[in-house]
Amino acid sequence: MTEELKPYKILVEQNPEDRKQLRKRSSQVPPEEITTKEFRTFLEKLRLTLKESESDLEEGFISVGLAAPQVGIRKRVFLALDNNSEEVITYINPKLKLLGQVRDIRAEYCLSIPGESGEVARHKRIQITYMDHEGREQKKKFSGFNARLIQHEFDHLEGILFIDRLKTN
Ligand SMILES: [Zn+2]
Repeated sequence: MTEELKPYKILVEQNPEDRKQLRKRSSQVPPEEITTKEFRTFLEKLRLTLKESESDLEEGFISVGLAAPQVGIRKRVFLALDNNSEEVITYINPKLKLLGQVRDIRAEYCLSIPGESGEVARHKRIQITYMDHEGREQKKKFSGFNARLIQHEFDHLEGILFIDRLKTN
């Protein structure tokens, strides 16, 4: 018997109850949990949620990232599209290192803040150490789009939203 997978509901900042959840810090995933059936199902549902969220976006927009706390699961896990390989990567227990001093400013959007966007300054280059969906340690460097997206998703694990970082002159 296979359980039918349904997407999670994405929490939105405009809803006061959801906002409380989005503002909390997420917890580390015990490494032995990663290979359990429950955890695999959770990852599959998270991916499904990311995919299905596109139907709510404006024409031409694609969903590029989703963090577990955005669906009310406060685990240090997020999904992010790698625009080099065009694969969605699962990041578990990520550690982020900002490289260099160079930052750039670009518009950001968030599935948890529908209808809003804003200019955010982010580091252009980062290094991320994390566990993949098989529980293997990985270390990668990214720049540009990928670096920005990872910083955005990592913020969700800390209860930080892009609206906290808006560039105001
Ligand atoms: Zn977001």
